[in-house]
Amino acid sequence: MEQFKGKSILKGIAIGRILFYSKNQQQVKREKIADVEQETARYDKAKAVAIEQLGALYDKAFAEVGETNAMIFKVHAMMLEDEDYNDSVYNIIRNDGVNAEYAVATTGDNFAMMFAQMEDEYFKARAADVKDISERVIGALQGRSSDGSLGEEPVIVVAEDLAPSETVQMDKSKLLAFVTRLGSSNSHTAILARTMNIPALIGIEIHEEWNGKMAVVDGRDGTLYVDPDISVLERFMEEKKKEEEAKELLQALKGQPDVTLDGHSVKLYANIGSVADVAAVLANDAAGIGLFRSEFLYLEKDHYPTEEEQFQVYKTVAQNMAGKKVIIRTLDIGADKQVDYFEMEHEENPAMGYRAIRICLDQIEVFKTQLRALYRASAYGTISIMFPMIISVKEVQEIKRIVEEVKAQLTADGIEFGEVELGIMIETPAAVMISDLLAKEVDFFSIGTNDLTQYTLAIDRQNPKLDSIYDAHHTAVLRMIEMVIENGHKGNCWVGICGELGADITLTEKFVKMGLDELSVSPSFVLPIRKKIREMRFK
Ligand code: PEP
Ligand code: MG
Repeated sequence: MEQFKGKSILKGIAIGRILFYSKNQQQVKREKIADVEQETARYDKAKAVAIEQLGALYDKAFAEVGETNAMIFKVHAMMLEDEDYNDSVYNIIRNDGVNAEYAVATTGDNFAMMFAQMEDEYFKARAADVKDISERVIGALQGRSSDGSLGEEPVIVVAEDLAPSETVQMDKSKLLAFVTRLGSSNSHTAILARTMNIPALIGIEIHEEWNGKMAVVDGRDGTLYVDPDISVLERFMEEKKKEEEAKELLQALKGQPDVTLDGHSVKLYANIGSVADVAAVLANDAAGIGLFRSEFLYLEKDHYPTEEEQFQVYKTVAQNMAGKKVIIRTLDIGADKQVDYFEMEHEENPAMGYRAIRICLDQIEVFKTQLRALYRASAYGTISIMFPMIISVKEVQEIKRIVEEVKAQLTADGIEFGEVELGIMIETPAAVMISDLLAKEVDFFSIGTNDLTQYTLAIDRQNPKLDSIYDAHHTAVLRMIEMVIENGHKGNCWVGICGELGADITLTEKFVKMGLDELSVSPSFVLPIRKKIREMRFK
């Protein structure tokens, strides 16, 4: 037995034989041709075939993983119509007098390299898409069909890398897991793997000799076992059985409303940290996104993310959620989340220090850049904005003043934006105690129980020594939650919880009975909580 560690894209266990998947390596030779116009016409014809294939793939993906995820094939078709891409192919054919295959391969490589060098993660990930469309056209030029058949038995597909089109063409019923050496968690392949609910590992050094061998993929800790010992195999078979029984029961809840036996509705949303997480939100059928921790965008960069970089991310999330509510929290750095380029001074007590909204109200331009990006993205979906670490009414009034300035500037610039609900996180005891006053200022409250517990109990949430007494069930915390709900409702605010306590199934009934309007949890907790809500009575 051999054991390898990689990065897991989706939790879950898969057991089966490995299929080593190697692309039809497209051998493209440079050939001189006499009639360049005939060659450009050959290219046009192949392009039309490729676009037709993409149309069929779109329909297949639409049926299997929904419109939003199928969009990638529309995007690929659009990329093939791109003027720069086509001009490059025509120029190479005409100027160098070479075959269309070579012109397409060169164009694909050049464009992919250009995308790969861009700083923005989203654009970087597009390099794979350009390669994918180029290979498709070359396939059409060479008269090869794109066939993702996997054979009779379900398999664990092991590959160097997988393009989105290859992923979706694979027969889902024959697919147990993906293991790749390359690939990023932002790629559409990873998104598709999550959406298809298929365990996937990336970053594993793969070997062709594995083909046909038995293997176990443990997506919970990112381990691949090749040729597992019989005892390991038996253990995983048992665990898989349990996992499947639990999953099976939950699947029936997809599409079901989050409503108690006596008809009381609760909004059940999901928490995300990046665009890539949206697939899990959709796969788990959350009704919206209750917390997008935007600071991860800042943490993964070595520079302040530009307005445009942020806009692209927020817009993508809003579009992928197709009109469902997306609550984006403004930058919440400081404490455990340090960002080098902010050059923050060392603090004795960073959890109570220069962090979150305090930084934004101090570095107004950083704040305004984010607000502009958020408002611009609001034209593409249903975006709400919430602000972290609030302690006073004055702060909220100041935020609202800045928001108005940003909106006025956008209007002056002729940029459209949508209706945006404004809310605040209730995660300090101060905010709890003045929640009646705060409710008059905003549209909603989202209770951040992680920090609220830390500040209420005076226990640093980062300190492992205090872990055993960090008790989010503490009566003080629960009373605060109740108080916030009551004050919020009196002031016409809806109230939710987006801290980890929201996913604590032992408290779901209590929260719903308190009158909580929304729970936002990690995507994989959505269906278990839906089950709980649907089994309880409100009164
Ligand atoms: C919280 O404090 O409960 C919360 C949701 O925010 P974070 O965990 O990101 O601090
Ligand atoms: Mg917090």
